[in-house]
Amino acid sequence: MRLVLVGPPGAGKGTQALFLASHFSIPHISTGDIMRANIKAGTPLGLEVKAYMERGELVPDSVTNEMVRDRLNEPDTASGFLLDGFPRNVGQAEVLRAILSEKKTPLHAVLELSIKTSEIVARLSGRRICRNCGRAWHVDFETTQVAGICDACQGELYQRDDDKEEVITRRLEVFEEQTAPIISFYRTEGLLISISASGSVADITERAISALSRIR
Ligand code: AMP
Repeated sequence: MRLVLVGPPGAGKGTQALFLASHFSIPHISTGDIMRANIKAGTPLGLEVKAYMERGELVPDSVTNEMVRDRLNEPDTASGFLLDGFPRNVGQAEVLRAILSEKKTPLHAVLELSIKTSEIVARLSGRRICRNCGRAWHVDFETTQVAGICDACQGELYQRDDDKEEVITRRLEVFEEQTAPIISFYRTEGLLISISASGSVADITERAISALSRIR
C-alpha cells in the first residue's frame, strides 16, 4: 500500500499515520519528524531547516525532495509507505510522481483529512506531543491520566515551537496558498479519497481504514 496523507496542520495526520501505518504494516514517513530529528541531533540539515520551521514556512523543495528521494530508497519501503507531510506543494507532488514512476511503484491513494479552519487553531494550540513515541495528545480534547506524561509510553509531553499561536496562523496561510492546490492535483489524477477529520481519534481511524479498504 503506497499512500499519501494530506490535510491542514491540526487535521490529525500524524496521529492517524501512526495507526494506519501499523494497520497496513508499512513505514510511516513524516518529513516534519525527520526534520525535527535532524534539528535535535544538530546535523547540517537540521541547521538548514530550523529557521523555516520556526516561522511556519515551507523548507525549500531542493532540501525536502532529496530527503524524500533518499528515504524512499530505503529497503523497508518495498512493502509500501505512508507519507505524512509530503508533498506540500504541486512541485513536490510532481517530483514524487516522477520518483515513483521511475521505480514503477505508483501511489494507490491520497487520503485527505478534511476539517474546518475554525477547529484547527483550538486543536493545535492545545496539542502536546510525546518526546518518546511521538503520539499527540490535547490538553482539553485528548487528555492523559497524568498531566504532561504520555499514557502510551510514560514519555514526557512537550509543545512544538510551531504550535504557538503566532506561528499557527502562518502555517494555515501556507497550507491554503501552497498545499491546498495538491488536493485538486490528486483529484484530477483519480487518487483522492476524502474523509472528515472531525470526531474522536478512533472514529477517524475507522473511517480511514474503511475508505482505504475499498481501493485494494
Ligand atoms: P509537520 O510536522 O508535517 O507539521 O511539519 C512541520 C514543518 O516542517 C512545516 O511547517 C515545514 O516548515 C517543515 N516541512 C515538513 N514537511 C515539509 C515539506 N514537505 N516541504 C516543506 N517543508 C516541510
